[in-house]
Amino acid sequence: MTQLNGKVAVVTGAASGIGKQIALTLARSGAAVAIADLQQDAAQRVVDEIEREGGKALALAMDVTDEQVVDAGIERVVATFGSLDILVSNAGIQIVNPLESYSFADWKKMLAIHLDGAFLTTRAALRHMYPAKRGGVVIYMGSVHSHEASPLKSAYVTAKHGLLGLARTLAKEGGPHGVRSHVVCPGFVRTPLVEKQIPEQARELGISEDEVVKKVMLGGTVDGEFTTVDDVAQTVLFLASFPSAALTGQSVLVSHGWGMR
Ligand code: NAD
Repeated sequence: MTQLNGKVAVVTGAASGIGKQIALTLARSGAAVAIADLQQDAAQRVVDEIEREGGKALALAMDVTDEQVVDAGIERVVATFGSLDILVSNAGIQIVNPLESYSFADWKKMLAIHLDGAFLTTRAALRHMYPAKRGGVVIYMGSVHSHEASPLKSAYVTAKHGLLGLARTLAKEGGPHGVRSHVVCPGFVRTPLVEKQIPEQARELGISEDEVVKKVMLGGTVDGEFTTVDDVAQTVLFLASFPSAALTGQSVLVSHGWGMR
């Protein structure tokens, strides 16, 4: 597949899990891809994998909450590959705790990574996309939790809902510049972020790990199945390569039917 030949993408949080699969998928479709992540060694391994397959990639050490680092990182992508067409704002973490014991520091950390990170990377990207007059697309990694709430996840649910507002505002502001935006909303995907939550939720909710998986994580699906990293990456590829603004400002659930709307 070559529908992204000549395009340049930045994927944040691309050293692991969903972001890594998105980076590999965009690269296999012809895009040059910057792997932006805190984990430099792991980011370099993704670059090596893309280059072994004949693709183009760049490892970017980036903390998405750091304004100067984000601005410099996006500059470097443009200097290296000549443009920027696709931003996938995907970096994220999870901290579960009931509201009454959720620490303010954890709340601020969650909002910083998910919302400040989305804003800073978007702003830096638009400063290149608008003057280049090539259009572009920004895809935010939301969640079914962009539309639904679950106990213990106050900061995550708040942040993921917030991304809908950012994406819809960008769809309106970016429209005249040919820049589209979307939120992709996965159900549970078995990445390190989710593996860590299974024992944590079992402890907090007083149920077994098996019950966390079957009832809490997959209870709302139509078939009891996890969503896969490839399901999410294929959705991002579809939205990134869609040819017009007929599709913009949308949130797309990829969740085995959990949270249909
Ligand atoms: P993951 O832990 O496998 O990967 C997250 C990556 O983000 C890691 O490589 C990590 O180093 C990076 N990261 C964390 N903080 C960062 C920062 N400040 N700056 C730059 N990079 C940073 O997690 P994942 O499951 O692949 O999650 C990716 C995204 O998908 C997150 O936004 C998450 O909320 C979302 N999501 C995940 C699921 C799921 O079930 N796994 C479901 C819905 C949405």
